[in-house]
Amino acid sequence: MAVPIDKEGQTVAWGITADTKERDREGWKEYEVSGQAAREAKGLFADVDSEPIRSVLDNAIESEARVWPHHSIGDIPTWHKGRICLLGDAAHAMPPNGQGTALAFEDAAYLTRLLTSTEAVNKGYDRLFTQFETARRARVADIVKSAKPSSTIKSRVSPWIWYLKKWAFWAFFWWHGREVRMGHDQSYDVMKESIEVL
Ligand SMILES: Cc1cc2nc3c(=O)[nH]c(=O)nc-3n(C[C@H](O)[C@H](O)[C@H](O)COP(=O)(O)OP(=O)(O)OC[C@H]3O[C@@H](n4cnc5c(N)ncnc54)[C@H](O)[C@@H]3O)c2cc1C
Repeated sequence: MAVPIDKEGQTVAWGITADTKERDREGWKEYEVSGQAAREAKGLFADVDSEPIRSVLDNAIESEARVWPHHSIGDIPTWHKGRICLLGDAAHAMPPNGQGTALAFEDAAYLTRLLTSTEAVNKGYDRLFTQFETARRARVADIVKSAKPSSTIKSRVSPWIWYLKKWAFWAFFWWHGREVRMGHDQSYDVMKESIEVL
């Protein structure tokens, strides 16, 4: 992934998904600040001459690399207790593939609707949060299911598989007339969620 982060496109943020050994908290920090993470990342692409990848890697400042070890958390038995309710990553951490922020916003929007409804609040926080959790767990499970393949697709593969993937993507877009429509619609309308607390 490479994204220009200034108007002129001169500064580029880049990132890769890679495998490395597990470390403790200090170990991960050291891996980051010592520049080892960036050196390893550069090493993985040492044989790549294509631009702009080559220039991005050659100009990368090693000590400025950031590492996000990717851990999964299991299902937590409940998201709420008393007047406290978890939402976003605290309730359902996602792999860093593009859905975590959206889900956190959805959670916030729905919880806001519930908490600003006097009728819903009058039913008590326990019932209100239970309603929130039940609705959101179903939504999160649906998204998590589709997030796993999109994580695997970004991993480094052998040159042959890469070559096949490259042409498979090309063929896919050609076949679909350069447009992609999700087979499974994942759009979300918070106004369709019920705020009638049972
Ligand atoms: C490398 C990476 C790439 C990602 N890419 C994407 C992407 O492209 N698209 C996408 O949708 N999602 C992406 N995600 C996931 C996304 O960042 C998270 O799902 C999202 O930020 C979750 O939002 P949140 O508000 O629940 O939690 P957070 O964003 O983690 O916010 C929690 C906040 O609480 C603060 N905090 C913690 N403890 C305390 C405390 N005791 N007191 C006060 N404050 C505290 C933290 O400092 C933090 O600011 C990515 C994640 C990573 C790591």
